[in-house]
Amino acid sequence: MRGMTAGIEAVLFDLDDTLLDGDAAGQSGLRALLALCPSVDWQAAVAAWDTAFREHFPPYLRGEITMEQSRAARMRAWADLMAIPVRAGAESAWFDWYLAGYQEGWSVFGDVAGCLDALAGLRLGVITNGDGGQQRAKITAIGLDGRFEVVIASGDAGFPKPDPRIFHMAADALGLPPGQCLFVGDNRDGDAVGARAAGMHGVWLNRRSEAAGDDMAADDTAGDAAAGEAAAGDAAADDGVPEITSLAELPGLVLRGR
Ligand SMILES: [Mg+2]
Repeated sequence: MRGMTAGIEAVLFDLDDTLLDGDAAGQSGLRALLALCPSVDWQAAVAAWDTAFREHFPPYLRGEITMEQSRAARMRAWADLMAIPVRAGAESAWFDWYLAGYQEGWSVFGDVAGCLDALAGLRLGVITNGDGGQQRAKITAIGLDGRFEVVIASGDAGFPKPDPRIFHMAADALGLPPGQCLFVGDNRDGDAVGARAAGMHGVWLNRRSEAAGDDMAADDTAGDAAAGEAAAGDAAADDGVPEITSLAELPGLVLRGR
C-alpha cells in the first residue's frame, strides 16, 4: 500500500491565511479606517468588520454581486453597526481608506519560502477565492511572483472553492489528473475537504490548532474567504483529512510518499 501522497506531481496552495497573513492585512486595513474615526473601540470595530464580511463577501463569490457592490455593502453594514455616519454614496470612498491599509499590510507567513524551496522539484500552483487581479497583486506584493505555474482565482473561473470545477480547472491547467495533485489550505471544509471531494489530496493547514469545524470562526476579514463555505461542522475530525499546523510540515508529508 502506497502512502497517501504517492504519485503526487503538483502541490497547490490556498492564498489568504495560507501564504498571506490575512489577519495582519485586515488589521492594517482597519487601523487605516479607524484613523478617520479615532474614538471607535477597536474590538467592536473588528467584530463588526467580520460580521459585515461574512454577510456581504459570499454573495460576491457566488457571482450575485460585483466586488464593488460587495465593498460598498460591507462598508455600509460596518458603519451602521458602529453608528458611524458614513453618507449614502460615500461607502466606496470609505472602503478605499480600508483598502489602502489592507494592501499596505500584505505580508507572507514565515514558513512559506522554506516550504516552496523544499518542494522545488514539484509543480506548484494557487487556487484562491477572490478577484483575480487583486489575488495576483497579493502574490506579487509578498514576493512570490514566478513561484507558481498556475494561479486560478474564483473571480476569473466563475465558481469558488469548494466547487469541484475550480480544482479540476487547476489540474487541467497542469495537465494532471486531480489524483496527482495535493491542495493545502486553512479552511478545512472549503479547502481540504473540497479538494478531496474533487479527487485531489487535501491537507488542512490548521495554524491555530483549532478543533475541526471551528475553522469558519477564524477566517480572514478581507480576502479570499471561506465565508461562502458555511458547510458542515459535523464532518468532524475522523474523516481522515490530514492536518498540519505549519507549512514547514508539508514537504515531509508530500515527499514521504514519492
Ligand atoms: Mg484561506
